[in-house]
Amino acid sequence: MTTAYISHNDCALHDMGASHPESPQRLQAISARLSDSGLLQRLDCLTPAPIQREQLALAHPEPYIRELEALQPRRGHSYADPDTALNPHSLHAARLAAGAVLLGTERILGGSCQNAFCAVRPPGHHAEQVSAMGFCLFNNVALGVEWALQHSDIERVAVLDFDVHHGNGTVDIFKDRPEVLVCSSFQYPFYPFRYQDIQRSHIVHTPLPAGTVSSAFRQAIERDWLPALARHRPDMIFISAGFDAHRADPLGQLQLEDEDFHWITGLIGEAANRYAGARLLSVLEGGYDLPALGRCAEAHVKALLEAR
Ligand SMILES: [Zn+2]
Repeated sequence: MTTAYISHNDCALHDMGASHPESPQRLQAISARLSDSGLLQRLDCLTPAPIQREQLALAHPEPYIRELEALQPRRGHSYADPDTALNPHSLHAARLAAGAVLLGTERILGGSCQNAFCAVRPPGHHAEQVSAMGFCLFNNVALGVEWALQHSDIERVAVLDFDVHHGNGTVDIFKDRPEVLVCSSFQYPFYPFRYQDIQRSHIVHTPLPAGTVSSAFRQAIERDWLPALARHRPDMIFISAGFDAHRADPLGQLQLEDEDFHWITGLIGEAANRYAGARLLSVLEGGYDLPALGRCAEAHVKALLEAR
């Protein structure tokens, strides 16, 4: 059984401008670090096809997809929100990003790999059913969850989101779907200021004050996520893997270290082994300090390899 690495060169064609932190260089930083460390050579490298339109409709209504298509410019940039630009290649990249998650889901459910990391952009966890926001167009993880739930062996799924920002889009999509546990740790108060106080037994919030360090982060995750996972007993686990809670990140003010991303991935891997037949799919979200992003992705992938 292998760990898959799913990425596509065309994800770099989506470019929101030279000063935008969600840059094509992010994927280069990850692949260069994985290659230099020798980890890439131990992974099963896969190339996705774009998600199909009817598959996108699993999480986003047709009018929303048409709205984004109409927004995509022939040249230059257009804006879905003040932070979220489209260039002529953005929807192609977004379809590949979502397609990567479907491919990973298929491979894991088919048993040809045990777990996988999708190094893709644009990210997805802020994309609500009918709103692009926060650098996100389609909710990649939510699409994978919906795809997994079509599979007869999968009745309950968990999404674990350790990005520094709250996964409002994932909460929006699954807020009335008790078969999907969503646990999100996030700096609070902080962007996106949406859905952070919704009360549902299958939605677990772990708000963290600015300045939170490793030990407090780990305690909060163990306190909130482990009992929720034990109650939910998911058949498959998805990770919204944002690395912007790292102390070096320019957007967030949490103070996590490289090793925290190895730690939390190991903890999630143990939960996947205990409840989910080791079925675990991780998808890149944020992470904007390029050297830290590369190191944290290395720590994350190393723990995925060790979880098998
Ligand atoms: Zn983020």
